[in-house]
Amino acid sequence: MRKSSEKIETRIIHAGEPSPRIQGAVVMPIFQSAMYETAGEKSYDDITYIRLNNTPNAQALSEKLASLENAEAALVTASGMAAISTSLLTILSAGDHLLAQDCLYGGTHDFVTRDLEKFGISYSFIDGNDPESWEEKVRPNTKAVYVETISNPLMQVPDLEAVVDFAKHHRLVSLIDNTFASPINFRPPEHGFDLSVHSATKYLNGHSDIVAGAVIGGSGLVEKITHRLNHLGGSLDPHAAFLLHRGVKTLAVRVRCQNDSALEISRFLEKNPRILKVNHPGLESHPDHERARKLFDGFGGMMSFELRGGVEAADLFMRRARLPIVAPSLGGVETLMTRPSRTSHSGMLVEERRRLGISDELIRFSVGIEATKDIITDLEQALKAAEENHPQTSGQAHVAS
Ligand code: PLP
Repeated sequence: MRKSSEKIETRIIHAGEPSPRIQGAVVMPIFQSAMYETAGEKSYDDITYIRLNNTPNAQALSEKLASLENAEAALVTASGMAAISTSLLTILSAGDHLLAQDCLYGGTHDFVTRDLEKFGISYSFIDGNDPESWEEKVRPNTKAVYVETISNPLMQVPDLEAVVDFAKHHRLVSLIDNTFASPINFRPPEHGFDLSVHSATKYLNGHSDIVAGAVIGGSGLVEKITHRLNHLGGSLDPHAAFLLHRGVKTLAVRVRCQNDSALEISRFLEKNPRILKVNHPGLESHPDHERARKLFDGFGGMMSFELRGGVEAADLFMRRARLPIVAPSLGGVETLMTRPSRTSHSGMLVEERRRLGISDELIRFSVGIEATKDIITDLEQALKAAEENHPQTSGQAHVAS
């Protein structure tokens, strides 16, 4: 871990910026050139070429992202899935075994359950909250353990300290998807994780206009993953790198605003009789609240909830809300909502979703940076409208019937 004396707000702006500035430009310019004139490079990976992740925009951005999590190195990728799949395919070889948290982002879940087998890699799921049960899952060929800081879509916080201890004890590589927390709320390398992966599409960029990813960690591992990415080809183009570089500069102000707003909206929903359940780690009622308080600097802008009245009431509510946009993805400046059973987790078997507690009516909410009061006013009218058209949405009616 490389710890800077400067605060994260300062590093976001200044880390990785070219010194001296290029032609005095205050903003890192876009280097829209696929290849660069050769200058006596000795190996393939040293040739400057966009796919080899070594052009000026990729390098400046990588340095900035490494600095945000106080890590030695980082790599930017063409998507979050490119970061995740390339990292796993670098660390694991045919014959190896992976331990993965049972409730994961749907794309990662599908990659683990449907693709790894083709490479001769096996897996077992673990309950992130039950460290005692992990011991019996570990095998002589287990090489890595993979978790999410805040799980998608139930907002569970696994026992992150136990994951790191367990990985060190069994000499496993520990990987964590830190997308939902963002480096503002949690920095995995500071807690001993080997690799942190991100869908930079979400909070890091924050403006819902690109798809990108990042791998952050020790320089040895990041170099190996870079060489694998050089072959697999999931590299970020300079224009997307420029947009991500610009977007990340407002990360601290955006995420702090989203932390506050999501907590206020969660408290409002929790008190509403039309709501059955709210999942947000900042709520005292959340089973992992104490752990989140201990480890995080903020609880994040993501939450999920269930209305009384099932799928019909949920759909009605989503149609009646005016401000939140019904769309998948998350982490942007605009509030988005989606039903994971239809989008991010639709690839999962229905029985598996139910077993994990992801109901069909669960609504996932990514809080933007609009005025909290306006979102609450809008949700209140949408809840009322859903109740008028679907009486079971009311807690009272539900109890009486
Ligand atoms: N990790 C998490 C937690 C996500 O929510 C997502 C996408 O929704 C991904 C990874 C994949 O990222 P991308 O869509 O950028 O490939």
